[in-house]
Amino acid sequence: MLTFLGRGSAFTDEQNSAYFVENDDLILIDCPMSSFEKLNDMNMTLFNRVYVLVTHTHGDHISGIGMLIDLLQFSVKTPITIIAPSKEVEDDLRYYFSKLEGCGDSWYELTRVENFKKDWLVCAIPTTHTEQLDGKCFGYCLNVGGKRVVYTGDTNTIEPFEPYIEDGCYAYLEMSAYRSPVHLYCVDMLDKVREYTSRGIHVYLMHMDDEKRIAAVMKDTGAEFAPLRRGGFTMEDTGRMLDGIFDITDNLYRDMCMNSSPDHRLLFTHLTELGKTIVDADRASFWKWDKRKEQLWTMSATGVDKIVIPDNTGLVGKALRLKKTVITNDPYSDPDFNKDIDIKTGYKTKSILVLPVADINGDFIGALQLINKNGEGGFDEEIDPKKLSLAALVCGIALESETFLEDSHHDRLTGLKNRMGFYYDFAKKYREYLIPESGKKMSVFICDIDKFKRVNDTYGHNAGDDVLVFTSHLVESFCKETDCVYRWGGEEFVMIMRDTDLEGAVKKADDIRVKLMNSDIEADGNTLNCTLSFGCALFDPSKSIEENISRADEFLYQAKQTGRNKVCWE
Ligand code: GH3
Ligand code: MG
Ligand code: MG
Repeated sequence: MLTFLGRGSAFTDEQNSAYFVENDDLILIDCPMSSFEKLNDMNMTLFNRVYVLVTHTHGDHISGIGMLIDLLQFSVKTPITIIAPSKEVEDDLRYYFSKLEGCGDSWYELTRVENFKKDWLVCAIPTTHTEQLDGKCFGYCLNVGGKRVVYTGDTNTIEPFEPYIEDGCYAYLEMSAYRSPVHLYCVDMLDKVREYTSRGIHVYLMHMDDEKRIAAVMKDTGAEFAPLRRGGFTMEDTGRMLDGIFDITDNLYRDMCMNSSPDHRLLFTHLTELGKTIVDADRASFWKWDKRKEQLWTMSATGVDKIVIPDNTGLVGKALRLKKTVITNDPYSDPDFNKDIDIKTGYKTKSILVLPVADINGDFIGALQLINKNGEGGFDEEIDPKKLSLAALVCGIALESETFLEDSHHDRLTGLKNRMGFYYDFAKKYREYLIPESGKKMSVFICDIDKFKRVNDTYGHNAGDDVLVFTSHLVESFCKETDCVYRWGGEEFVMIMRDTDLEGAVKKADDIRVKLMNSDIEADGNTLNCTLSFGCALFDPSKSIEENISRADEFLYQAKQTGRNKVCWE
């Protein structure tokens, strides 16, 4: 029902006040300064509006309200309504906020119970406490989530509340360890509390001066201490955060599994977004470590453009070098922090967390980076990495499988795409060229090094390899943006040229032929010359991929049969 920010009386560390959340509104009952301090590190932006129900005007009940008005006005920008139990208390509060706290009239709304209509507020219950507060001290009867709640506030009598304390309801009673004329003394209350709990009433004790003493007296009565807010999150906060997480994972699932042509990079986008949400950071990015090129580059980033940096720079580089999580809440004093991006973009980095991720062999392959944790204090060394661990792990696995996929589509020797890559591309980037009605043209050639076996036989396999690498790079250097070359087999290459007619393909093939013919190739200490034969064809979308390649291959055969070092076509 109610959660307490404090349950002590005036002279304890934390004074009494409670809250509940209804329809994204935060409803506080009183707000001493000790409660304000806790509200200040709760995420107040989560609420549509804040209400404060005031029981009476003693400092241990209202001293944090002025600060709360300021916080909501200047920082959080959430509206606040203060509800007084009566006209007199309303007048006193208005005086207090304007004269003592110096709050502007428009920064808060002040009203009183009789003018206020919400399902959760049943009524204020006038009671008695100190003499000076005669006629100005109240408790409340509430309806929280459909349950009757009675909250006594400070009182020296239970009498006015009795008519509201129904069987099965929730009763929050002030309780004093020492007898005084202004509080409910625990020993005097024993029978009453036993009667309440026997009627199925949930009795919670609050506003206590000495919890140990009260616990000893109240043991076996069935009464409990009012529940305090635990850790950094309330149940409501946690629920909201989980909702946010589930939204992201649901989108992730739909994009990756229900989308006919998923872009697997979306996975990194969603997971970095997830990391950002879980630790409430301002920015998140996932970095791939390209060990061959000694670079780090962003696979996905929220709030920044794609960046490529040398792998020995920045805090991502540091985390990968040290093979451990790196956290700094003062980046400018860390020599590894790269200030350049801040200088360029005008963004001020205040805190960074980098979680390196490994493949299944335990080799580090990338890192998840979070920047600027919202709220005070920056990243927590223990809690935040723990929260991010699953997102980081899945990023690592995804990166590893992406790397496997990339590797399996490429030929190690020449670096060209192989036949697997060829078929993968056909399913993706050539899709529209395979529809006869699209009217899109595409050409293909297949080429084969002439008498290549002789190179191996004469100069050895290493020389043969060098010739293959040289030739493949030469062919690749003729690729436009819309062309792609594949290593089709041993010394055979296929080039697919989008938006190119047969004439264009023949021209390109012949340019390559001439270029290679006139090239000296350094091959394992020898200088060699090689030639290529080509077969060209216009891609026929009504036929299969294999039939199209066979068609070009027929012309390659013709070129071989009629002297080699030539281009043949349909
Ligand atoms: P043609 O002009 O008719 O194409 O004659 P060719 O000698 O080029 O053709 P053949 O098919 O008889 O020989 C191709 C050779 O290419 C045989 C094979 O050992 C060699 N080869 C295939 N892959 C590689 C490779 O990765 N490295 C090396 N060094 N040789 C390779
Ligand atoms: Mg050959
Ligand atoms: Mg061959």
